[in-house]
Amino acid sequence: MGLDAYVACNCVKEGKAKKPPFDESLLVWKQGFPYLDESAPDGWCSLLYDPWRETACEHPDFYYFSDRVYNASGHLFYNGIMDRLGKGTFPHLDAVWRSSFTPDQAEAAMQDLERLESRLGEVEGVFLVDPATGKEYRDALTGNQNWFFSAGAEYTYILNEQGFNILGPEGEVWFRSLAFSQEIIRTMVDGKESVTAVFRDKATGQEQAGGSTFNWKTWGVDELEYPAFLEVVVRPLCLDDVYTLIVLRKLLEAVIDTGNPIVWA
Ligand SMILES: [Zn+2]
Repeated sequence: MGLDAYVACNCVKEGKAKKPPFDESLLVWKQGFPYLDESAPDGWCSLLYDPWRETACEHPDFYYFSDRVYNASGHLFYNGIMDRLGKGTFPHLDAVWRSSFTPDQAEAAMQDLERLESRLGEVEGVFLVDPATGKEYRDALTGNQNWFFSAGAEYTYILNEQGFNILGPEGEVWFRSLAFSQEIIRTMVDGKESVTAVFRDKATGQEQAGGSTFNWKTWGVDELEYPAFLEVVVRPLCLDDVYTLIVLRKLLEAVIDTGNPIVWA
């Protein structure tokens, strides 16, 4: 589950784009984007319109700005911050998600966004970090009990301010650690490689096996990276922790620049 958003450029309206290879009166406008009217002959869309749209101006597909706003865990993280600081305190920003949000409201939403950014440090986050590289593998807000891996009814992974926890079926704590190593175990199951982990607490040496590993995928590289050691860090949030806010700012800037609405997809 995720949410993408984009804002159209004005290059066609302003005459800065290449002319379409068909009669311009066949363009219809929706949310700032020019589309080919349904009355156009069959096949024109894929043959003429799509290639034109891709390269008619400096913005591929007429996207002045487009990005992923959040994935499932990012959504929880953002909503958790809003709950703690009070959604009602940022009414113009909260309106951004509604279909009735208009470009006129973008300046007010931007002011809310700036106030929200200035108050981020009031919220504490919990981060699971590889101290060797600084990479973050998981985040949560203090006070949250969101699980992120569940092996059926057997056990569940939870990150909170007490550490990384593996809980049994009745919620009993099997493993809790603020600093632990991760040993990767590779076995062959029915001709397929299975990768699991053994976590070892640095302070006590306690070990616990887990069916899900902490790993990192570098784009274009097949092999996953597995951190050998992880630490739980609790600290106030900063803007870099909340990707949704970084994207929202760029979206609002794009709306203010172009006067076009945000399209959610
Ligand atoms: Zn453009």
